[in-house]
Amino acid sequence: MRLTERYDRLREADARRDEDGCLRAFQEIAGLADGPVADDGAPTPARVAWLRYDRPRRVDLLALRAGARPVAKFEDLDRRTALGLEQRLRSEGFRTAVVGPYARRFDVALSTPSGPAERYLVAASRGAEAEQVIEAERDRSPEGARRAGRLLGYPPCCVERFVALERTPEAASDGINEAALRALLDGPPVHWALHPLCSESPVGFVPCGGRCPLALDFARRVLAAVEREDPTGAAVLRAQLLRPMLIVRVGLFWIFDGAGEGSARRGSVRYSRVAAQDDPSLPWLYAWGARAVGASLARGDTVTLDEESLLAGEGGRTVARWALSQPMVPRWWLPRSEAL
Ligand SMILES: [Zn+2]
Repeated sequence: MRLTERYDRLREADARRDEDGCLRAFQEIAGLADGPVADDGAPTPARVAWLRYDRPRRVDLLALRAGARPVAKFEDLDRRTALGLEQRLRSEGFRTAVVGPYARRFDVALSTPSGPAERYLVAASRGAEAEQVIEAERDRSPEGARRAGRLLGYPPCCVERFVALERTPEAASDGINEAALRALLDGPPVHWALHPLCSESPVGFVPCGGRCPLALDFARRVLAAVEREDPTGAAVLRAQLLRPMLIVRVGLFWIFDGAGEGSARRGSVRYSRVAAQDDPSLPWLYAWGARAVGASLARGDTVTLDEESLLAGEGGRTVARWALSQPMVPRWWLPRSEAL
């Protein structure tokens, strides 16, 4: 079953208040074969807007203003935010182009032909690049993607990799964002500066690999611009990108105050606190994420993932165990603190 259908099932079961249906649908999304479910109202992790699609990315604004990138695009904004941003950038001397309205599914993070068309994209540049990027993206072919990627300053190796991933069976069934995320995490350990799931990640594209030198150059330029503009913010950002995360889907993950060891598919984290990704457009997803996983994480102080199971522990004993369905869905984000 395609991932979009799994999300539809959860949303529909939630709308008819079918608790068993919700739990089953959630487990199918999360790749869990079983597991506990907490009562509605049990203590669950605090929610944080870790990855938001509806606000302009601050790192892109800083990098654009500092000239660290010639052009930037700000996607999925509501009309008011988009028009406000466009006006502001124009008054700063940028050339802008706006696309929209279009419809977006935030669960799979993809544009969709159905649903309410209420999202806008704003591109901005000092020169003519903004219009050129929009023009290139209108061409949905690999050649269009290559042209847009080149204009946006993305490394050619990363653009090629993305174009190839779009043609995989994983992309057909789960969407390109899920396919790209797992392809990245399952490769060599990803550098913290190439964080794939944070609104403030220095790179807004999918790198071809976790050690791609050109993607790291891009991240270095953006972070240098942030550092010049806001040194305290740059230190906070670095700490943020280094925090361990249990990733289930592009829009479903938990962030830990703690330390971990291991790899994307096998490892554990000891923590003092856990928070849940929140996106206000997906309340049904987060309600079930909290009951089916979050509540157990909130009770625990350790979480361990291997290829067969996910375990939450507290004070050395197991408080929850989930068997994983295959191919396994959850992954760790466990970056090392290394130089950039
Ligand atoms: Zn690359």
